Amino acid sequence: MCRRLRGTIVLGALLAYGSPAVAQAVDPYLRINFVDVGQGDAIWIQGPDRDDGSPGGNIIIDGGPGRAPQNRLLGYLKAQAYGLKPGEAIDCVIATHPHDDHYPGLMDILDQYQVRTIVDSGYPKELTTEKGNVSRFGQFRQRALKEQVGNKPSRFIELRQTAERTLTCGNLELDIIHADSADLKEMGSGNSRQNNASTVVRLRFGAFRFLFMGDAEGKERNQEATETRYVERLLVDRAKKDSDLLRADVLKVGHHGSETGSTLEFIRAVQPDVIVIMSGRKLFNGTYLPDQTVLARYRRERPGVTIVRTDLNDQRRNTTNDADGDDVYMYTDGETLIVSQAVERNRRRLWRRVRTLARELPIQ
Ligand SMILES: [Zn+2]
Repeated sequence: MCRRLRGTIVLGALLAYGSPAVAQAVDPYLRINFVDVGQGDAIWIQGPDRDDGSPGGNIIIDGGPGRAPQNRLLGYLKAQAYGLKPGEAIDCVIATHPHDDHYPGLMDILDQYQVRTIVDSGYPKELTTEKGNVSRFGQFRQRALKEQVGNKPSRFIELRQTAERTLTCGNLELDIIHADSADLKEMGSGNSRQNNASTVVRLRFGAFRFLFMGDAEGKERNQEATETRYVERLLVDRAKKDSDLLRADVLKVGHHGSETGSTLEFIRAVQPDVIVIMSGRKLFNGTYLPDQTVLARYRRERPGVTIVRTDLNDQRRNTTNDADGDDVYMYTDGETLIVSQAVERNRRRLWRRVRTLARELPIQ
């Protein structure tokens, strides 16, 4: 019980026919943690308790590049007051795409927790190396296929092979608004093609919407932001008929805030109030991510936007020590969303509140 006390409210319910009031501790908050894994993504979403007090759904989107004991996501999951003990169940684990800054850390999650559903893009990444050994991604796939919960095989979904686009994870539901497919056209080549295989998900909770872009792109690095291509093009075109598709209060920016995305049309369709940049200290074509021009574009298009990021003060760091705790945490009861950034004060780590959003819920 005590690990759930943080943020708990006590609800008194008067049962029918004059039964005595029953006090029940129910945690009403959706919590989203953007864990600083250096250059890479690792996101943990925890649903509110169910009405009977049992725990809500857990979702992990990407696991960062590091394996235990360097896997910061793993340490983070265990350390939080509302955290998960090894052996507990996780409803859904999503590997957005097969790049080394996204899926490797998920293997430790599979080793230490019981994962019910594993979602992979299905992009045809090499499963063997040139020497004929099992590749790193091949190891992830093998590990995912072996996962069990209580002797029952877990579900392994390769989105390329299925039309399933709604994912139920305990009491949370995710909309998969972009998934890779073999017949996608104009999705670039090489690394860019793999980024554009990213699974893009949307979460709706109460009055809030959250959009997680993985590394999906919107243009070539040297193109103007007025041109929109790739996944952003597909989504922006669909949003013309379905205006709700992209609109989100919180956006996990695609591809670590690179100039390969966040085009003007896309930003105008999302209209985010809070953007999250997950990045570290790794050089990409001579530049660190995020690109300053991308940040400036969000500020210009969305005056007042709050930018939170996992690469704060990483200037003197490198890829061996950039996972240094610049986590971002947000929680909401569906009407109020509180966004916090981890800071260090007098050698203590604290959550500093950086934004509060209030929304009105429509009357049902
Ligand atoms: Zn990446």
